[in-house]
Amino acid sequence: MLSEVKALSEVSFLTFSQPKKMKCECCDRSTFIEVKMFVAREGRLVGDLELCSSCAELLQQAVARENVVREWDFSSGGESLG
Ligand SMILES: [Zn+2]
Repeated sequence: MLSEVKALSEVSFLTFSQPKKMKCECCDRSTFIEVKMFVAREGRLVGDLELCSSCAELLQQAVARENVVREWDFSSGGESLG
C-alpha cells in the first residue's frame, strides 16, 4: 500500500477576468481579488484561496522557486554555488 502513496501536491492559479472587490484571504486587505489559487493533493482539491494581485504574484513565485529548488537538490548532489 505504501508504495502507491505519492505525496504529490499541486497548486494552480486561476485569474479572474473581472476582479472583484473583497478581502484577500492571504493579507486580509480589502482590495481587488484577481486570482484564485487551488491546492490539490493526490488529485483531490484540498483548498482554495482568493488572492489580491500582490499575494498571487508572491505565491506564484514561491511555487515556481520551490519546484526549481526541488529539482536542483536532486540533480546537484551537493555542489555549491558559493
Ligand atoms: Zn493579498
